[in-house]
Amino acid sequence: KDKGCELRRRAKFDDFVLDDDGRVVGVTIREEYRFDDKLYSDDLENTSGTKKTLKANKGVVLAAGGFCRDKAFRKLQDPRIPDDVDSTNHPGATAGALLKAFEIGAYPVQVDWIQFGPWASPDEKGFGTAPILTQQGTFKYGIAVDIRTGKRFMNELADRKTRADAEFKILREKPGAYPITFADTKMAFKDLSEEIIQKGMGSGKIVGECATLDDIAKKYGVPADALKETVKKYNEGVKAKKDEFGKQESALSEINEAGPFYVIRLSPKPHHTMGGLKINTKAEVISSKTNKPIPGLYAAGEITGGTHGASRLGTVAITDCIV
Ligand SMILES: Cc1cc2nc3c(=O)[nH]c(=O)nc-3n(C[C@H](O)[C@H](O)[C@H](O)COP(=O)(O)OP(=O)(O)OC[C@H]3O[C@@H](n4cnc5c(N)ncnc54)[C@H](O)[C@@H]3O)c2cc1C
Repeated sequence: KDKGCELRRRAKFDDFVLDDDGRVVGVTIREEYRFDDKLYSDDLENTSGTKKTLKANKGVVLAAGGFCRDKAFRKLQDPRIPDDVDSTNHPGATAGALLKAFEIGAYPVQVDWIQFGPWASPDEKGFGTAPILTQQGTFKYGIAVDIRTGKRFMNELADRKTRADAEFKILREKPGAYPITFADTKMAFKDLSEEIIQKGMGSGKIVGECATLDDIAKKYGVPADALKETVKKYNEGVKAKKDEFGKQESALSEINEAGPFYVIRLSPKPHHTMGGLKINTKAEVISSKTNKPIPGLYAAGEITGGTHGASRLGTVAITDCIV
């Protein structure tokens, strides 16, 4: 407001208006637009709202975010993502605005680098509570196991990409065979607030409670002997201060083999899109036709690409949004 901007709700950006020299001089929008998350592609199918053209005084800043919820576009970029996989992002995280920028010649950068949350659960919607219960709980004080073999398959504290790729490998070999993570109840959530624990346990769907390793095996369809052997081996690694998957020594603590246990199923959910529009240090969008800025077009936030590499570190996306 201080800078003379007017905030408009229910205004959908549809396209750019260019002058004869290719400068972005405005946008077409639809007012009173209603997003419809029941559509397969809101960008392509939703015709609501009244069309209007807006003239830009100085330029247009595109800040339409990432595309984690765009089922069609995300699958084209990374075929591992089935349509029924939920995202941690909001329903409006679609690729329509990004595609419009590509149409006028903006350079795409690393568009297929989609980050997944390896700590998410298929048993709740969106981001939910599981990411906290796993990251600050069972991943730290327990292990993750492939239910088909009863064996560990990753360093539970590796970077997001390494863990999500490991989970995807299992789910592509056997769709629906969600890996599990568990720790004994004494340790599992000891660093978490009562409020978070209650939120996670409250629904009765996210956290399974099992008295013994045999109960885990029965409930989640894991080979029991292999599971027991895995926990034994993990504890031996803890004692020797050497983990077979390279889990950090400071995070190694023994699992009480006698139980009881808290168990959470894992599903890598699309969380952030690292790729997008190529910009320069002035946030000008670079054209693939000239390798120079597209006059009048700027971009900021998750719609830009190339800043984070293949695996964005947690907490650093906010810097993208500073114009
Ligand atoms: C659950 C979760 C937790 C996160 N935690 C962190 C964290 O702790 N630290 C961190 O740094 N990052 C975090 N991130 C990432 C970070 O929040 C995002 O990258 C950042 O918020 C993106 O901001 P943005 O303004 O670019 O996009 P968004 O916040 O996605 O905003 C884009 C807006 O544009 C709208 N839009 C899209 N298309 C159109 C169109 N055609 N017309 C009109 N409007 C449109 C969208 O509906 C949306 O409102 C997290 C992300 C998620 C999902």
